[in-house]
Amino acid sequence: MPLGVVGAVVPWNFPLDMAMGKCTPALTTGNAVVPKPVEQSPLFALRLAELAAEAGLPDGVLNVVPGFGATAGRALGLNPDVDCLAFTGSTATGKLFMQYSGQSNLKPVWPETGGKSPNLVFADCDNLDRAADMAAFGIFFNQGEVCSANSRLYVERSIRDGFVEKLVERAEAAQPGDPLDPASRMGAIVDERQTRKIMSFIEGARATARLVTGGERVSVDGRGCFVAPTIFEDVRPDDPLAREEIFGPVLAVIPFDTEEEAVRMANDSLYGLAASVWTDDLSRALRVSDALHAGTVSVNTVDALSVGTPFGGMKQSGFGRDLSLHSLDKYTALKTVWVKYGA
Ligand code: NAD
Repeated sequence: MPLGVVGAVVPWNFPLDMAMGKCTPALTTGNAVVPKPVEQSPLFALRLAELAAEAGLPDGVLNVVPGFGATAGRALGLNPDVDCLAFTGSTATGKLFMQYSGQSNLKPVWPETGGKSPNLVFADCDNLDRAADMAAFGIFFNQGEVCSANSRLYVERSIRDGFVEKLVERAEAAQPGDPLDPASRMGAIVDERQTRKIMSFIEGARATARLVTGGERVSVDGRGCFVAPTIFEDVRPDDPLAREEIFGPVLAVIPFDTEEEAVRMANDSLYGLAASVWTDDLSRALRVSDALHAGTVSVNTVDALSVGTPFGGMKQSGFGRDLSLHSLDKYTALKTVWVKYGA
């Protein structure tokens, strides 16, 4: 049966996608839903509410609550009339929602949180040009502001130098441009605060790793928050660059010598959202996919996604699943009804 009222708290990087990934299954299973957009991107949710009203959704079924996280988000999390809370955002805020639940009505909380996804490139991968295209896409798409961005690249040492050269070519071709120009390959970072955060990771890493391209804040037409596509190599596995979610166009390259070492380093993370593997050896593809602690593993591509398959994480990437029939489970309760008949 439906749970009742579902709060849907979402971030700014793909605001409409994230909200629809929660509102659609919540409404489909008979719940009312309260989306709370983040303060950087509230307008899509207000427009969504207008369109829902125009389409004839009854009053009260979809109620948008824009506002700041610490006030509107917290109020939803603590509200005893909210029966379920679906959350996408940072791991730190996801943990707060678990606390809000414990302090109020023990509502189920479904966190979809941060990531630091590894991309493993083995020397037996036949098409290294394609692997480089996709490795660059995996970190530079949407300026790296993607929860499943492939921000850690583990590359087999024997092909490292050539592969990094290919990546540098692709990074240099992906310089930021006017976000409204369809020819731009990368746009602006969401705001000044996020731009500064990315730059502070870059500045910190200059002392511990080797910058091979990028590393600069740039301006487009004399303004804006833009960061050049950035690649560091010789990154130590314990460097913040290899451990923390930067949420920007910054790639950490780490070499490996054996499959076992690559898997061990890839799994040595708080996060477990997604991973990619490049190899032409089918046995290795299956073995490594099986060993990786990640909610989604993509072989010979990056970030594969479909509405028909579940998307979500392991470890501190959260345990909710959006998309697919599995998402319906989050918004329904199992109930057992026994009917005794006869004498
Ligand atoms: P965030 O955690 O700062 O904010 C997410 C939402 O929580 C917003 O609506 C915000 O207003 C609200 N919020 C913030 N502080 C709160 C508080 N104290 N109490 C209650 N609500 C609060 O995240 P963000 O910066 O908007 O988004 C980036 C993060 O989202 C990254 O960590 C990224 O990995 C993650 N993300 C995860 C997925 C996924 O599917 N796993 C998808 C997209 C983004």
